[in-house]
Amino acid sequence: VQGSSPASFDGYLLAMACQQGAQHIPGRVRLVEYQDRPVVHTAQESYTADLLVLATGVNSNSPLSPAFGYQRPATELMAQDEVLRPPSWPADEVRVFFRQPPGIVFGALIPKGQYVNISLYKRGLTQDSISEFLDANGLDTQFEPEMSRLCGCNPRIAVGSARTYFGDRWVAVGDAAVSRLYKDGNGSAFFTAQRAMYAALRLGISRTAFQKGYAFLCRQISIDNFYGRLLFWGWDLALRSPFLLNTWKKALQQEANLSPEKRIHMRILWGMFTGDEFYKDLFMLFFHRSAVHGLWQGLRRRQA
Ligand SMILES: Cc1cc2nc3c(=O)[nH]c(=O)nc-3n(C[C@H](O)[C@H](O)[C@H](O)COP(=O)(O)OP(=O)(O)OC[C@H]3O[C@@H](n4cnc5c(N)ncnc54)[C@H](O)[C@@H]3O)c2cc1C
Repeated sequence: VQGSSPASFDGYLLAMACQQGAQHIPGRVRLVEYQDRPVVHTAQESYTADLLVLATGVNSNSPLSPAFGYQRPATELMAQDEVLRPPSWPADEVRVFFRQPPGIVFGALIPKGQYVNISLYKRGLTQDSISEFLDANGLDTQFEPEMSRLCGCNPRIAVGSARTYFGDRWVAVGDAAVSRLYKDGNGSAFFTAQRAMYAALRLGISRTAFQKGYAFLCRQISIDNFYGRLLFWGWDLALRSPFLLNTWKKALQQEANLSPEKRIHMRILWGMFTGDEFYKDLFMLFFHRSAVHGLWQGLRRRQA
């Protein structure tokens, strides 16, 4: 917060960078060419750069010329909206829905001050997806969507890794390189940028330097995302199969009597939807003796 009015997160970070000596040149980069080193063209000016950091996310086309060989990560669409928070809606409670309407991966309602942010990720998004989601979960009367909607958009999220994301005198960071599947994109943006700058300062700005000092972090995120994909595939399967879903539910209910550190299935679910733990660790937890035992007990209870 700056003074009494709230500042955007991006604005806050930009102000901090400028305080540290960065020079902000507002303008859209139209093209970046490579002539011994990167040359950045805006509508007004051209700049020759010693090192180019591509941090353009995945919601616009890359300005890099084909000479860079860069291919941005695969993306998927989300639906996003902001509505006025009804007085009855708690200001400190995040709610996540998984079952309705069909095709949904998750829908989240996150209170932000006097607004509620609605984020929906589902297969086959249409213009009406947010309304259908509210309807299907009995939330339509509370939100009166047509009356109180403030903004709506269909941003893209990165669901893969970029190809050729660094070279001599250039490196891509954040969503433009790789980010954790469905989670903590700001964290990935921070860690990739931090690692890339560490490599640049300690090892140099050549392709080899980034290969040595940066690529492994992106590979780690990418491998972890593979386990994330397996977990979400399993979750999707469970949602479609009443048998699997009930077994899992029973296992979760059984855990309620255990101390928090022993609630393995709860930990897996919490981790999947908060990003608190690596997907690989969560995936491995499924094979933990007590997780298998919990499922077995869940299966027996279901049959009882
Ligand atoms: C609906 C939604 C909800 C999300 N919620 C969360 C969350 O709760 N927590 C979380 O951690 N992450 C969340 N994320 C992910 C997070 O927003 C991204 O992972 C993160 O913003 C990536 O940061 P970035 O700097 O790489 O890219 P971006 O934040 O996308 O920034 C890229 C910037 O580059 C600018 N740009 C692009 N092209 C050009 C050009 N040619 N010239 C000049 N400027 C250009 C863009 O205008 C933009 O300002 C969410 C994403 C979406 C879509």
